[in-house]
Amino acid sequence: MDPTSPKVLFISSEASPFAKTGGLADVGGALPTALADLGAQVMQVLPLYGTVREKGFKLTAVPGGLKVRLGRHTLRAGVFETHTDAGNTVYFIDYRDFFDRPYLYGQGSRDYGDNLERFAFFCHAALTLPQKLSFSPTVVHSHDWQTGLVPALLKGPYHKSTPLTRAASVFTIHNIGYPGLFAQDRMEATGLSREEFFHTGGLEYYGWISLLKSGIVYADAVTTVSPTYAQEIQRPEYGMGMDGILRHRASHVYGILNGADYHHWDPETDPHIPHRYGPERMAGKPGCKKALIQEMGLDATLREKPLLAVISRLDHQKGLDLLVPILDAMVATGAGLVILGEGDGHMEWQFKEAARRHKGRVAAFIGFNEGLAHRILAGADILLIPSRYEPCGLTQLYALKYGTVPVVRGTGGLEDTVEAFDYITQQGTGFKFYPYDPWALFGAVREGVAAYHHSGTWSRLLSNGMQADFSWERSARQYLGVYQSITDSRQ
Ligand code: ADP
Repeated sequence: MDPTSPKVLFISSEASPFAKTGGLADVGGALPTALADLGAQVMQVLPLYGTVREKGFKLTAVPGGLKVRLGRHTLRAGVFETHTDAGNTVYFIDYRDFFDRPYLYGQGSRDYGDNLERFAFFCHAALTLPQKLSFSPTVVHSHDWQTGLVPALLKGPYHKSTPLTRAASVFTIHNIGYPGLFAQDRMEATGLSREEFFHTGGLEYYGWISLLKSGIVYADAVTTVSPTYAQEIQRPEYGMGMDGILRHRASHVYGILNGADYHHWDPETDPHIPHRYGPERMAGKPGCKKALIQEMGLDATLREKPLLAVISRLDHQKGLDLLVPILDAMVATGAGLVILGEGDGHMEWQFKEAARRHKGRVAAFIGFNEGLAHRILAGADILLIPSRYEPCGLTQLYALKYGTVPVVRGTGGLEDTVEAFDYITQQGTGFKFYPYDPWALFGAVREGVAAYHHSGTWSRLLSNGMQADFSWERSARQYLGVYQSITDSRQ
């Protein structure tokens, strides 16, 4: 092992395949491996959720467990380890009162009332683990509000903690829309001193504690998941009240695109899809479309028509309210539509209602279904992503790989990863619109539908998209560059 290579303590609340609610898990699953492939030593830490236990991973107890000091209290946690398929070791913090629950953060839009205590505890435990395992990180990398306390803890109670004294901190914002807000009278639960940390230049956010702000203020470097989003969040329209502090820290803010984990998202090897295919052998794709049409109970005639799809959390962020007023017009173009998603109850109802109204042409699966997400990517022709804002977005990267053309709103990572098709140069991978307006979306859908009916254009689009490379290696190299710059500047 190269002695100059970084030693990274990677702390997140989600990582595939263990625990997932969204894109953070895809990153937590793939980035540690990509970093290790480039020579970094990575210690990854996750909470041991009840769902992880139930999924039957082979977990081995680390003898002795962990004593976690949190303010005036000392709590005892268990520690388990497992090895990923890629050979990384992942450590799990076991504290049943906090993590042995059916959901990660709460049910639907109702968060668990003790999320502050749960994730403050997790951050403390993760920072206590290196000492037990004799690991001296040079970088501590944490993510989103759940682990936003970590950079502040490194400046406060863990500042002089032996294995962490040399550690620089990186905090990644995956979504600024989740500020991690808690009432200020609960400051004690963070384990930070109120005098030192609860003020406008610290965790205070309009009278609340914000764990996301903690990460932004105290980390040595702040990254977010696309270059465009890194710029957008420094403006009031996208910054959700954090834009001022981000502008203040602008010289330490970096935008690094997420990669796609092609070990799990590649139609040549995907075990979830009925027929394998790739850029050189496309024959499997129509088979996947036929199977999807059958599985979703749609009319067989749609095999010759463009099949549109949505795979998304049904959340304000995702812009699916734009779809509702144009749904009938979309169906009138002859296209079919498959929706996979869960979240906002009213939106769920609207899509179920659309499926009832357009039986055979529109199908909605309300729920979270990993296998179906793969089968839709393989079987659909066009994936719709009309996000209000999109830090990076992963489904468009997967869609490109599966020869499914993305129709996106040009914001954040969607702007950076989808190139609008140009009929003259024949360059480009999808279709884009900009104004947040249903008929602007409809215009882009019509472009997609028209291209579908022109076989030369369509094969060119698919080929351009399938050749685009968003592998993690490129992103991991950029993270190593950030790690290097902050560890250099500390020395
Ligand atoms: P976000 O993290 O904002 O939800 P991303 O596009 O970054 O959006 O990542 C979403 C991830 O979650 C993708 O891997 C996508 O396939 C998956 N996903 C979203 N909704 C569902 C669902 N209902 N069922 C299965 N997978 C889903």
